[in-house]
Formats: sequence, C-alpha cells, structure tokens
Amino acid sequence: MDLSYTDEELAFRDEVRAFMRDELPKEMSDKIRLGEELGKEGQEKWHAILNSKGWLAPNWPKKFGGAEWNAVQRHIFEEEAAAHHAPRIVPFGLSMLAPVLQKFGSKEQQDYWLPRLLEGKDWWCQGYSEPGAGSDLASLKTRAVRDGDHYIVNGQKTWTTLGQHANMIFCLVRTDPDVKQQEGISFLLIDMNTPGIEVRPIILLDGTHEVNEVFFDDVKVPVENLVGEENKGWTYAKYLLTHERTNIAGVGFSQAGLNTVKRIARAEMAGGKPLMANPHFAARVAQVEIDLKAMATSNLRIISKAAAGGAPGVEASMLKVKGTIIRQEINDLARRAVGPYAMPFASEAIEGSNEALPDPHEAGPVAAQYFNNRKLSIFGGSNEIQRGIIAKVMMGGGQ
Ligand SMILES: Cc1cc2nc3c(=O)[nH]c(=O)nc-3n(C[C@H](O)[C@H](O)[C@H](O)COP(=O)(O)OP(=O)(O)OC[C@H]3O[C@@H](n4cnc5c(N)ncnc54)[C@H](O)[C@@H]3O)c2cc1C
Repeated sequence: MDLSYTDEELAFRDEVRAFMRDELPKEMSDKIRLGEELGKEGQEKWHAILNSKGWLAPNWPKKFGGAEWNAVQRHIFEEEAAAHHAPRIVPFGLSMLAPVLQKFGSKEQQDYWLPRLLEGKDWWCQGYSEPGAGSDLASLKTRAVRDGDHYIVNGQKTWTTLGQHANMIFCLVRTDPDVKQQEGISFLLIDMNTPGIEVRPIILLDGTHEVNEVFFDDVKVPVENLVGEENKGWTYAKYLLTHERTNIAGVGFSQAGLNTVKRIARAEMAGGKPLMANPHFAARVAQVEIDLKAMATSNLRIISKAAAGGAPGVEASMLKVKGTIIRQEINDLARRAVGPYAMPFASEAIEGSNEALPDPHEAGPVAAQYFNNRKLSIFGGSNEIQRGIIAKVMMGGGQ
C-alpha cells in the first residue's frame, strides 16, 4: 500500500488546480464559500463548464461519454473542488441513475437518456423514500398497476431533494403486493410534468427549500420507462445505493470547513486574546484535526485498496459515520467561534432577523450550515443503520 501520489497523479492534480483557477467563475465560488444557494441556473452553468472539459461524468465509462477516472483521480478532483469552493455535481442523474441505466437499461434508454444528462437537458430527482419507508425501504407502498401500454402510479414519495427543479424522477414502485416485499418492486422513470403529480415543499431547519413531498394520483407512465424487468427493481435499487455513497468521507469539505474555523478563531477575540489561544477551544480544534487526518489516511487506504481491485464494503459505512461526525463537529466549532454573530442568521427563529454580514464575514452562513448539516447523519443511510452494518460485520454474521 502506497499512500503517496505518483508523478502522473501529481500532474493530474496540477491540471485540476489550473482548471479550477481558470474556469470556476469567482461569483460561483464566492457563493459556495458563503453558503449561499447556487440555484438551478448556476448549477446548470457549472455542469456545462465541466461538460465542455469532459469532466462532468467522472465515473462513467468512456464509451458513454464519461471521463472514466479511477478512485484516486476522483479523490484528487473532490479535494481540489472543495479547496476552491467549487459547487458539487448534482448527483441524482449523473452519479446514481446513470450507472443503473448503463448496467441494466435498454439500448434505447441508454441512447436517449445518457446524452441528455451530459447536455443538461434533464434534471433528475430520486423517488425512493416514503413516509414509513426510509431505512426500511423495501416496505414502500407507491403502487404501479399495468394498464395496456402504461403503468398507473398512485402513492407518495418524501424527502425528494431538489425535486422542485426536476423534470424527471426515478422511482421505486410496487408492482406486485402479493410476494415477498423485495420481489414486488420495479424501477420506473417518470416525467414530472405528467398530470396527477404534485410537488409540495418541505422547509428545512435553516429555512431553505431543498426537499419535497411528491404525490402521485393516477399518473400514466409509458411501459418503455420501466428499467430492466418488472419486479426486479430491488436489485437495481441496491446497485444505485452503492453509487450513492461515493466520496462519503468528504475529506476535502471537512478540510475546507476546518480552515474556516481556524481563520475565524484567529480573528475573533475572547477575553482579550484571539479565540484560538483559548486552551479549551484549541483542544477541540486539535482533536477534530487529528480525527480528520486519521480519517483522511483511512480514506486513502480504502481508495488504494479499491484502485488495486478490492471493493470497499463495510469501509464505506465506517467512512460515512466518521465523515459525518467530523463535519458536524466542525459546524459546531464554527457556530461556537462566531458566537452571537450566528444568531441573526437563524432566520425565522429570531425576530427581526438581520441579513447584513457582521465580522468576521464568514459568520453569515455558519448557523445555516450548522442547522442544515444535521441532515448528514440521516441521508444516504442513517448513521444508526451504518453502525448496525459495521457491528454485524465486525462481530460476525457476514456482510
Ligand atoms: C435532507 C434529506 C434529503 C433526502 N433526500 C432524499 C432523496 O432525494 N430521495 C429519497 O428517496 N430519499 C431522500 N432522503 C431520505 C433518507 O434516505 C431517509 O431519511 C433515511 O433513509 C432515513 O429514513 P427515515 O427518514 O424514514 O427514518 P426512519 O427509518 O424512520 O428512522 C428513524 C430513526 O430510527 C433509526 N433506525 C431505524 N431503523 C433502525 C435500526 N434497525 N437500528 C437502529 N436505528 C434505526 C434511524 O437511524 C433514525 O435515526 C433524504 C433525507 C434527508 C434528511
């Protein structure tokens, strides 16, 4: 196991750095740094910039128009992107649906949907979770009944991230209620503009509209929008989930967040001295830095194993748990560092909320990020469930 970069990898890192320096618009990185929303238009603009370089689909095979980067290249890109405050790629179509279509979709589906994804013609969202079917996903109830050349879909999805922007949703639906739960599920591609679909916003703790409820009332879906075989959707669903947890450790994002904490703590005064000179605060910063360095090493070790052909298994769960704990701890340190400056930005929680940025200017997004990132330990498989997986593997019972 060699954790240092090769000459080719260092050259690739230089290329990514130059790209971020020359192609990432400053107004975009400023927004990301200050925790502001990029919006649909901004996100699509970034996708188009990456696409023109051939970097929009790092994990796709070249034959589908992807960059076909290996795990180390993807890691380098993510680190540089976080360090330069680049927006993240919206993953639902590009990183989640695409691998499913590439492996299980028909030739017609591949030829139609994959180029549209690269060209930014569709915005996909993920219709997996339902009220009562999140961790226990196989108990989902949204029903699809075959009627000639169509399925008629009825039911509800929830927590649909960025569904308000989407024109397409990939959905798990129940096509056979009379068999073992996992054997009666199908994977459908549904046009969000079909009559009978209603999207209702869910407002998060930080006041943002990021997630939605989606209701289906006698929605007609052409049968050619079924991926793979009817009732085999659970296999495709699980395959997709292995792609959902990519870059789950978020080392680059944590490093960028920790740098911000240090910057604030050196500027903020506490008892006549910079906050960073406070031994209690400095000890917490040191602890999280140690944890982050340890996780970064584990991350590289796992990537090195993957690059040598080994598939990460329980390690992905370990990175998910540790990575999200570290990011939430960093958010907490930032919140403590700006102290009362964070309060005006707790939006409606405080009467007369104040949108002007007090010093240090990083204070603006701190409260919002703290609240918003409570979600990290829930989505993509909650940490309790990941701990269950780790315990099962470590204490016997297999993976
Ligand atoms: C911000 C956000 C965005 C999301 N985006 C999407 C999206 O775009 N598309 C989509 O389909 N879904 C999305 N989700 C849903 C997400 O995948 C689920 O929230 C997650 O799987 C947990 O399911 P649940 O919310 O139903 O909680 P539940 O499954 O009801 O769990 C509640 C609590 O009980 C714990 N728990 C449950 N079972 C066990 C167990 N066996 N052992 C120990 N503890 C357990 C859980 O860890 C959790 O703390 C999103 C969620 C959030 C918060």
